[in-house]
Amino acid sequence: MADLRQALGEDAPNNAEHLNRRLRNLRPDGWDVPTNKDDRTLPVGTYRLDAKGWHPALGPRPKRDAVSAGQRRRVFDRDDRRCVVCGVGNGEPYPGEPNSRAALTVGHRIPRELGGSTELDNLQTECKRCNEPVRQELGLPETLAELLPDVRRLRTQELRTLLSWLQAKHRIRNRVDTVYDRARQLSATEHEQLVRTLHDMLHGSGNAQ
Ligand SMILES: [Zn+2]
Repeated sequence: MADLRQALGEDAPNNAEHLNRRLRNLRPDGWDVPTNKDDRTLPVGTYRLDAKGWHPALGPRPKRDAVSAGQRRRVFDRDDRRCVVCGVGNGEPYPGEPNSRAALTVGHRIPRELGGSTELDNLQTECKRCNEPVRQELGLPETLAELLPDVRRLRTQELRTLLSWLQAKHRIRNRVDTVYDRARQLSATEHEQLVRTLHDMLHGSGNAQ
């Protein structure tokens, strides 16, 4: 620990917690550095380097799927087995594509390539379409500060809907979604009839008002 402090220089925060965190951050890259917590035979404040992992001089960071089966199960359970991005459930068709079947996977909120961890908090249920390759093109994940101005622009009813989705941890299919699913199965003729009926309900049939 003393050597590490010296190597990091005077500018680095000098407390043990900071240094422990720096070391923990190396573990996903394959560094095996047990401490007294991992191996009771080590004196407190002493680290042992068991295995060197990836470092930038070795080239691009290798891609690994470090998510264990147990983590997958916990992430799926926590997110109610629905894509947290679009709300689709495993095996369900995407809206407007009755022949499609969504497959769920575990994605990283902050991608591995950008330093995202494999801790549960950085993992989320995503369908294959909403998974990382697409998200990376959109840039880094949102921050609350960036999101709040758009939240404030929502109407009261929209805020209620948003709150209920957030509390349920997935997009809830509402009555309109359910009715729309059924309406999509109408024949072309009945579809036209429904459109006319809705139009009349909203704008009056000519006789009304
Ligand atoms: Zn999705």
